[in-house]
Amino acid sequence: MRTIDDFTRPLEYLSPMDAPLRKVVREWADNEVIPHRRKFDEDYEEHKLIEPAFDKLMGEYGMQRVLFPSDLGGWGMGGSNYFATAAYMLCEEVSRADSGMGVAFAVVHWPLLLICVEPHVNRELCEEFAPIFCSTTKARFAANAMTEPQGGADIENMDIVRGSTIQTTAVLDGDEWVINGHKLWPTNSGGVCDLFGVVCTTRAGSNDPDDFAFIFVPADTPGVTQGPPYQKAGMAADKNGDIWFENVRVPRPYRAHGPGEDLKYFKEMVALGNTMSVAFAGGALLNVYERLYEFVTETTYKGQPLKEHDAVAGVLADIATDIEVIRVVGYQNARMLDRTDLYGPRWGEELVAKSRAYKYYTCDRAMDVTGKAMNLLSNYGADRDWDIEKHWRDLKIVQLWLGGKQLGQAEVARFFFDLETV
Ligand SMILES: Cc1cc2nc3c(=O)[nH]c(=O)nc-3n(C[C@H](O)[C@H](O)[C@H](O)COP(=O)(O)OP(=O)(O)OC[C@H]3O[C@@H](n4cnc5c(N)ncnc54)[C@H](O)[C@@H]3O)c2cc1C
Repeated sequence: MRTIDDFTRPLEYLSPMDAPLRKVVREWADNEVIPHRRKFDEDYEEHKLIEPAFDKLMGEYGMQRVLFPSDLGGWGMGGSNYFATAAYMLCEEVSRADSGMGVAFAVVHWPLLLICVEPHVNRELCEEFAPIFCSTTKARFAANAMTEPQGGADIENMDIVRGSTIQTTAVLDGDEWVINGHKLWPTNSGGVCDLFGVVCTTRAGSNDPDDFAFIFVPADTPGVTQGPPYQKAGMAADKNGDIWFENVRVPRPYRAHGPGEDLKYFKEMVALGNTMSVAFAGGALLNVYERLYEFVTETTYKGQPLKEHDAVAGVLADIATDIEVIRVVGYQNARMLDRTDLYGPRWGEELVAKSRAYKYYTCDRAMDVTGKAMNLLSNYGADRDWDIEKHWRDLKIVQLWLGGKQLGQAEVARFFFDLETV
């Protein structure tokens, strides 16, 4: 009998830790998440069911510590040249059970990437923030606070808009940054965040890259307020809400790197965010395959299993082909981010644009695959007991973030066709 492991993973370049880590996460997904996930939608505020699963994966198994240097209680993955490939596998396996958990898990590491990953480790900030994540068995959350009420896509569209629309300001007062602004939608906000990475400008309206600042703000700093989580179409495991920063003071060294450098590595965050979005969608699709396999094998039509009919088999082939291609592309993209010796820096325009291409391609295919799978399941496509409708709702959300499809198209066209104004 075929399984999800028959979809290709590039065996020649998987991380040496792939097999043992994958086994741990898959068992966790099968035992701690999949039996409960149909009740997650109603748990979006309290996280009564969701929190214990996060505690186990991130706190007890320690997967919130992976990026920190080992002498600070971490696993040292920030210094590994398998860091992106291993991260892809972890996000894929978590998302097979629940892509909302996949994104919440990934975003814990998203802002930490700026300070924990070679070649731009900020040792002082690693030491400062390691205890939040490394000295507890409870899940801890970080968030990347980028999107603002006037728009998220423009803030990411750095090559054209160049930070000129950012309205969250950071002003130096002696040895402290004073931060004022309003952010919304960050994954792991909505009341759960422990540590924010905040996208700010040091000169409102400026399009000088030096004025782009990425500043860390512990969530319990006076002047930080987190609103309640929004109720979304799906992805209840990811809390999103408003955050207000009112005269928030943090030490000067909490700026990740400094003028020019913050923006450079922020682009790396955008690349990684897109690559991991492929893993969230690809992981969920593996589970769509599992549930669909079961349905078309068990259900009969004219005395034959559904899958043994020509019209159905053709659709099944299209679905399997999309999942196969997405998996190959996703791992290839992750490996390109690890092999900077061959593909250039992770923050370079090539990897940023290509990761956007893979993300929006994957999301388009994922919507098509889940739609086709629901057609085959007919009434059961809409039935919570079959889980496909959950993945369909969740995957639509993956398509919307990181500037949505439009920004993806703009950046891909800009790179491949040398656009100058779009
Ligand atoms: C579940 C979830 C998790 C999220 N996580 C985070 C997070 O961790 N951190 C964070 O900061 N934000 C996060 N967001 C917010 C998300 O990234 C933004 O909503 C997204 O970037 C779009 O921004 P916007 O909604 O403000 O739309 P706008 O920026 O106002 O864009 C409006 C429309 O214009 C289009 N558009 C934008 N630019 C162009 C262009 N150049 N050409 C053509 N069309 C364009 C957009 O695609 C969109 O359709 C999350 C959102 C969701 C739903």
